[in-house]
Amino acid sequence: FAIQGVKFLKLTTKIVIGLLSGAVAGLLLNIFAPDVFIVLDKYLFTPVGKTFINLITMLVVPIVLFSIILGTAGLGDPKKLGRIGLTTIVYFLVTTTIAIIIGLSLALLIEPGNQGSFDTANAEFEAEKAPPVSETLLNIIPTNPFAAMTEGNMLQVIAFAVLIGFALTALGERTTGIFKLVEQGNHVMMYLVNLVMRLAPYGTFALIATAVGSQGFDAVKAMGVYMIVVILALIIHGILTYGGSIAFLARKNPLWFFKGFAPAMGVAFSTSSSNATLPISMETAQTNLSVPKSISGFVQPLGATINMDGTAIMQGVAAIFISQVYNIDLSVGEMATVVITAVLASIGTAGVPGVGLIMLAMVLSSVGLPVEGIGLILGIDRILDMARTAVNITGDAACAVIVAEQEKRRQRKVNTQVRN
Ligand code: ASP
Repeated sequence: FAIQGVKFLKLTTKIVIGLLSGAVAGLLLNIFAPDVFIVLDKYLFTPVGKTFINLITMLVVPIVLFSIILGTAGLGDPKKLGRIGLTTIVYFLVTTTIAIIIGLSLALLIEPGNQGSFDTANAEFEAEKAPPVSETLLNIIPTNPFAAMTEGNMLQVIAFAVLIGFALTALGERTTGIFKLVEQGNHVMMYLVNLVMRLAPYGTFALIATAVGSQGFDAVKAMGVYMIVVILALIIHGILTYGGSIAFLARKNPLWFFKGFAPAMGVAFSTSSSNATLPISMETAQTNLSVPKSISGFVQPLGATINMDGTAIMQGVAAIFISQVYNIDLSVGEMATVVITAVLASIGTAGVPGVGLIMLAMVLSSVGLPVEGIGLILGIDRILDMARTAVNITGDAACAVIVAEQEKRRQRKVNTQVRN
């Protein structure tokens, strides 16, 4: 155990060093040697970063499939699955709502849209057509599970895997062969995750160097207050909502939680993708936070797909920011509409880079705010995407820890009752 602890500390430290040195390298090249950056980026940073992202993304679909089948089958009776499913969904919805409220309140308080002048005349944003949330939810049952897997449609893969897990439980003895196959498949995938994780420090270095090196810093200066509000709201949400719920619902030390989960947060920060980080966030929660595989395998893939608190925060702040820039007053009712649509948008947002911004169009149009206002925040969104993705996956892990601890307590209670 102790040896594992040392290993994990080393990896976390290495990832942090990767992140920091990548940021410094990107920044220095950006300021002093933009031409050198272009060459280094083309032949070093981008290829290394892309290879790392591809390696982890490669594992996502098989891991979700195997671990949810095992998770559902491992949870045994449907009642337990129902209980865990309900706790998970309630936690996701409540924390996402709290997240937007924190974002809205902070934006109303600091008024980022009234600090400085913004060029609304040239703001442009073509809203891409985002799939309506109702359609995403209706299509949750795949008509072709193989197509769902090749397209990487996570909700559909999850639905298919849950049903297979049920079937395996119901058929018991008759399907032990398939069960073993899935179990061994899962071992193989987790082995590969461990291998890929060793590359994380280099991957994060390269990804951050690209992100910082290609950033236009004039835009960052102009949008400074907006960025500070988003980041502040992310930090407050992390500490209060996740720290608080870990302390009160899981009865664990929040520091233990954040320290244990740090490697996954570092990877999410550099990849800006909850989906791509999923294999690493599951492995980290299982190894460092002692979340049983069956719970981690169920809660975290679901969370990576439908639970995006960081994204919701950005959308809340952005809605208020744009209303302030365009001098449009939002009524309390309209703000409530923002909360509801941002929760729905968070469910509908896929865990890949930048999608939160596309879904923002839906939030804005729900209260008649100008969608082209997104043009103002487009330039600096890459940086915020990193921070909010780290928060997005931390919410999933917090939920997994809480569910795991509650199940443990429940089991202990049952055991004492049986003994008495
Ligand atoms: N990049 C985010 C994620 O993968 C989604 C978003 O807000 O754009 O979690």
